[in-house]
Amino acid sequence: MKNKIKAKNKEIVLSGMAVSPGIAIGSVFVFRTMKINVQELQAEVADPKQEWDLFNKAVKKVVQQLDIAQAASQKQYGDEFTEIFESQKTFLDDVALLEEIQQEIELSASSAPFAVSKILSEKTDYFINMENTYFRERAYDIMDLKQKLIYSLLGIDFDYNLSSPSIVVAEMLSPSDTVQFNRNFILGFLTDQGGKTSHTAIMARGLQIPAVVNGYTLSKLIVPGSTVILDGFTGTIVINPRPATIERYKALQEEHEQFNRELQKEIALPSVTPDGQHITLMANIEFAHELSDVTKNKAEGVGLFRTESVFIEKKDLPSEQEQFEIYKQAAEQIAPLPLTVRTIDLGGDKFLDNYSAEDELNPFLGWRAIRFCLDEPEIFNMQLRAILRASVFGNIHILLPMISSVDEVIRTKEYLEEVRQELTEKGIAFKADIPLGIMIETPAAAMLTGILADYVDYFSIGTNDLTQYVLAIDRTNDRVAKSYNTFNPAVLAFIAKTIETGKLRGKPVTLCGEYAAVSEAVPLLLGMGLRNFSMNPHLIAKVKKIVRIFDIESCENLYEKVKELHTAGAIEQYCKNFFKSKVPDLKFLS
Ligand code: PEP
Ligand code: MG
Repeated sequence: MKNKIKAKNKEIVLSGMAVSPGIAIGSVFVFRTMKINVQELQAEVADPKQEWDLFNKAVKKVVQQLDIAQAASQKQYGDEFTEIFESQKTFLDDVALLEEIQQEIELSASSAPFAVSKILSEKTDYFINMENTYFRERAYDIMDLKQKLIYSLLGIDFDYNLSSPSIVVAEMLSPSDTVQFNRNFILGFLTDQGGKTSHTAIMARGLQIPAVVNGYTLSKLIVPGSTVILDGFTGTIVINPRPATIERYKALQEEHEQFNRELQKEIALPSVTPDGQHITLMANIEFAHELSDVTKNKAEGVGLFRTESVFIEKKDLPSEQEQFEIYKQAAEQIAPLPLTVRTIDLGGDKFLDNYSAEDELNPFLGWRAIRFCLDEPEIFNMQLRAILRASVFGNIHILLPMISSVDEVIRTKEYLEEVRQELTEKGIAFKADIPLGIMIETPAAAMLTGILADYVDYFSIGTNDLTQYVLAIDRTNDRVAKSYNTFNPAVLAFIAKTIETGKLRGKPVTLCGEYAAVSEAVPLLLGMGLRNFSMNPHLIAKVKKIVRIFDIESCENLYEKVKELHTAGAIEQYCKNFFKSKVPDLKFLS
């Protein structure tokens, strides 16, 4: 596809990655496609001091732009996206980063745009090569800042003016771009780059706007004004659709909208199976601002607060006080519902600048999560102190990641005891009976649940990692992705063992990996005896609908059948067929 795709050309169907569900049909608004060759700007500058001044002016301008975007966001969406802007501004305030850019300008006589491009590209590369999707996709925030600074230095402004309902097409969209468009005119997003956990995707899902990542360079190929269809369920992109195709998708769109209206009406209904079993549906969050979604979707608490974001957004260690404020506010906001704070899961290649490990051959099997924390008492104690201090403001639970031995739990309890003594001596209040739980995400932990039950109050099954470790399949490696399947009977056996032990020993078990919201997996998990699920807050309405359809007895029968099957493929297919047999007409659920 080297040439521009002409309007009124014949219909072209492409497949991309669906990142936010829904159907969008409309003409395209192509946003900011101008490509700047920064290399061409690298003339040796005569006056580095002047370049440095220009750079500082550009930083001020970009901060102003971010303030404006933040205000627009506040007006349209409340506090929902505040932290994203704050973290971008914090990045522009980072003394070490500013020094690096200054050095590039002064020592290499680089132009300000070139220095910005060079240094921020290095930062982007650092983040984009990380294994963890969350960190990898923070690279897009830095790319956005880079572009904004360069455009500001070159005096280029953007056009956010949507004057009619349109599908916004862009190479990449940042949160600050996204919120400047008039929400009423955005039909969908089609970006060249991004992923399921990029901020645009997260925002699109939050705003219920269909979004597809195309994986090509469509932002440069689509002619503005062409008609496009985005299928946010399958990732299909239709350019210049035929009238019959438009009709087909319009019908699907109407059906989906109707479905959503019904689902929203049901959000306050109890989460109970037809035979009266209550199922607890909780939310996973990464940022405190997501708590509004938790409340909106009637989650029964936060089953997983991934605190890595608190650390990575600072790019350095957040102080105890900073952490305390975050945990306290979050706990207060959802009290009396539980806030499950998971201690940091940094490690492998996800370290903070000053705490990087030597290069590891197998970072996922390396110095990660609880292993890192136990070796870095200062960092661990600081987080534990902040959590304990916040505990009096709500219903906090503590969750430990990546446990693979009883020793790790014993040692953590010693740390906790130390922190308790310290706080007591200082007369600082904390709750004495904070529930302590562990993630079951290694085969060792699942095998040891019978013993671990003596030491902890609850289990939380992390199927994302558990699948990876049970099957010895790197979940980030595309070449083996087809075998990464939680329906594999080996993984299911570990899940079943954990649920069984929990029941036997009176320890609540939650499942907080992505599998908790896989439609076809929900009846199977119910059949295995799982009663607590935690997931992206926007998926709660869907899972509640499923819970209200399937009675426990039929789910238990399903599980009995599944036990007779030998392969992941056969089990997955069986669960799909079972699901369809009960809900033949509810295609948006699966
Ligand atoms: C998991 O591994 O399933 C999990 C919930 O933890 P994370 O995705 O943060 O590794
Ligand atoms: Mg995990």
